[in-house]
Amino acid sequence: MMDIKDILQERILVLDGAMGTMLQRYKFEEEDFRGDRFKDWEHPLKGNNDLLSLTQPEAIAEVHRKYFEAGADIVETNTFSGTSIAMADYHMQDLVYELNYESAKIAKKVADEFTAKEPQKPRFVAGSIGPTNKTASMSPDVNDPGFRAVSFDELRLAYKEQVEALLDGGADLLLVETIFDTLNAKAALFAIEEVKEERNIDVPIMVSGTITDASGRTLSGQTAEAFLISISHIPILSVGFNCALGAKQLVPHLEVVSAKTGYAVSAHPNAGLPNAFGEYDETPEQMAAQIKEYVEKGLVNIVGGCCGTTPEHIKEIANIVKEYQPRKLVVPA
Ligand SMILES: [Zn+2]
Repeated sequence: MMDIKDILQERILVLDGAMGTMLQRYKFEEEDFRGDRFKDWEHPLKGNNDLLSLTQPEAIAEVHRKYFEAGADIVETNTFSGTSIAMADYHMQDLVYELNYESAKIAKKVADEFTAKEPQKPRFVAGSIGPTNKTASMSPDVNDPGFRAVSFDELRLAYKEQVEALLDGGADLLLVETIFDTLNAKAALFAIEEVKEERNIDVPIMVSGTITDASGRTLSGQTAEAFLISISHIPILSVGFNCALGAKQLVPHLEVVSAKTGYAVSAHPNAGLPNAFGEYDETPEQMAAQIKEYVEKGLVNIVGGCCGTTPEHIKEIANIVKEYQPRKLVVPA
């Protein structure tokens, strides 16, 4: 299989769109989430999308297949909440290894089918590592600003378990994404480095932050540039942004990062800003027109979609980016 680093020199790679948006189309109910295996589970399971890798694996494979058919080079595993910290909501901490392992296996099997058909366009699986639902650098309690709901070490261990399972299941890359707290991301990156060292392996790492407010800061208060500096000590494949904003609002932040890094730059924005109902309604054509600005300006090497994006969005995006050269990978002076 070709090295993804070499491919990035040649063309812009396309990442998939949202898994959650696609799963909504199946209208799964509580019993579908449970399947046979968890029918007597004592806690509600509806909404635990990661669990669907065990109880509805065909649906997960089908979503991956649709994104590859739309032109994605990389799909993300269905593991955004696959840590013991996030799974505690469902009392499923003990299933974390299996969830990640099976999710990676499902994605890898579909990727291999496509690579076998089109060897000139190898397909990759990125193990999705979400931010967890707890933050290490801020207090959730306004009356107790020194309180922390989770420690760096707890996060590190939780991420390590996820990373090991994703790699065992066949993930080609690891994508630390939707980073709203840089300290959480550092715990994930630390865990990845530990696993790499223990196994004596190298695995490409993608890092993707989230700008959560109009002033252009992440939730832990950093600008795009500060975010870049704080993760720059680790060798990574790419750095960029996803979620929270639509493609248009990400442009100035991508400009900053693109000008200051020698790593590849990635973007997988939402399908616009959410409407009054919290839904995303930018059409594939509208979104692709915004992505066109990225590639005309030479800002990105990897581009895809987050909340609200579908295979139709990815297809439009893939059609646009194939006409353009990738951003040059040179370390700025
Ligand atoms: Zn999103």
